Amino acid sequence: MRQKVIKEILAAIQSSQSFFLTSHINPDGDSIACETAMALFLERLGKKKYVIANRDGVPEIYKFLPKAGRIIKTSRVKGYFDVALILDASDQERSGNIIDLKKQAGKVIVIDHHLSAVPFGDLNYLDRESASCAEQVYNLIMAKFGEVTKAEAISIYAGIVTETNKFQEANTNPAALRTAALLVEAGVIPTAICKQIYEQNCLEQIKLLGEVLSGVELKLGGKVAALTVTRKILRETGATLEHCEGTINFARSIKGVRVAVLFREQDDGFKISLRSKDDTNVNQVAVKFGGGGHQRAAGFFLRGSGAAVRKKVLAEIKTILNK
Ligand code: 5GP
Ligand code: MN
Repeated sequence: MRQKVIKEILAAIQSSQSFFLTSHINPDGDSIACETAMALFLERLGKKKYVIANRDGVPEIYKFLPKAGRIIKTSRVKGYFDVALILDASDQERSGNIIDLKKQAGKVIVIDHHLSAVPFGDLNYLDRESASCAEQVYNLIMAKFGEVTKAEAISIYAGIVTETNKFQEANTNPAALRTAALLVEAGVIPTAICKQIYEQNCLEQIKLLGEVLSGVELKLGGKVAALTVTRKILRETGATLEHCEGTINFARSIKGVRVAVLFREQDDGFKISLRSKDDTNVNQVAVKFGGGGHQRAAGFFLRGSGAAVRKKVLAEIKTILNK
């Protein structure tokens, strides 16, 4: 099944000349990794005509990745593309709708690894067991060339290391570790990548972390830890939403906590992130509110006031904790 779809995707790429690449809104390490590795792959195939566009900008910490400079931030791209490659976006809405997939693309190829993945492409390479989407791009490259270049390896490694949270999360499986080892053999220096991603924090981010963590609250008898990023905190610390990345893990790390929740205040509601420490399926909560993700990491947006949103979300978390 996997080999068949990989073959079909390679054939579609090979017979096409122009490409549109995107990932999901608020792109993360895996998103940027997939896009940059795919861009390098296309170039290696001699395919020079491609546009990479995301609705939101490339987070500062991923700008070192090769070809990251090719990624544009826009909500709309005009023109027609032989192939649209949608990477790491579990559904069409999540991909930001930057082009009209029906009118502006000859063929839509979806590559994704989310539990909530929807096969909305003409070709769908979905692998819910894959720790990262970057590994799926790796499999594509390996199926074609049998080896990866150092630049491709750097991107893919960045995808794996961020998506597994430095090989700490439950998605860290033999395939992810094996691929990582092969990428190191291809020239990746793990400590150099980790330095780029995790050791270049700006002062604003650390101040934000301090403010947000000092407001941590335990709920549901200590099984849930809640954090809130208000617009006021962002204003006062000078940090931006992208600086919240990873903050939620501190809440989850508290002894006895099974689920951590982070509320990020937006104009008309809250962006909510969920993380679970055990097998609790937080994706179920996210899907209930129109979002998605993985069993242990999921997210969604909820309109409403702080109090109302917190009440609804905590009630839903309570339900899954009792399952
Ligand atoms: P985060 O909490 O870091 O934003 O996201 C955690 C996981 O949930 C990621 O895999 C992300 O792609 C997914 N996710 C976050 N927000 C949404 C959302 O609004 N919709 C969907 N479908 N997935 C989301
Ligand atoms: Mn992602």
